[in-house]
Amino acid sequence: MKLRAARAIEKGEEITCDYLGELLNTTEQRQQSLAPYGFSCSCKACLNQGVTDARRKKYLTWQLGKRLSKSRRGADLEYAVHLLREMTEDGLQVSPCYHSLLLEITRGYMALGDEENALRFGQRLHAVKVATGKGKAFKQYTSVEAMKKNEYWKSK
Ligand SMILES: [Zn+2]
Repeated sequence: MKLRAARAIEKGEEITCDYLGELLNTTEQRQQSLAPYGFSCSCKACLNQGVTDARRKKYLTWQLGKRLSKSRRGADLEYAVHLLREMTEDGLQVSPCYHSLLLEITRGYMALGDEENALRFGQRLHAVKVATGKGKAFKQYTSVEAMKKNEYWKSK
């Protein structure tokens, strides 16, 4: 068995795993899905239901339709960065929703021609993809020169 971390792990921090692939469901839905396995989850998210359920609802809303607008600029990009910060706090770096949000943000900064932020988020994107074993396809996001050759660079 090989384990790869999508983020830094604190010394002594408990490492948990996702049994269900339903990270964005509500706490109640997750607990119901776990019932047949004979245990209830006591991870940080499940213990903080009031906050995490509301946040997960926002992530799903974004995932299901509130993609960044065509221009991927201004308030949309700012909101996307805000969502990413919350998802990071919630430890959702393994969620496909986190990966697609990170890709949208990186492309948003690429569209603006913002080298510093495109590289900053592009490197994070590459790091989480490395953790899933798909780093090679995202290597281009670790270099400004490579990103400048991408169709998203300074696109309208
Ligand atoms: Zn849990």
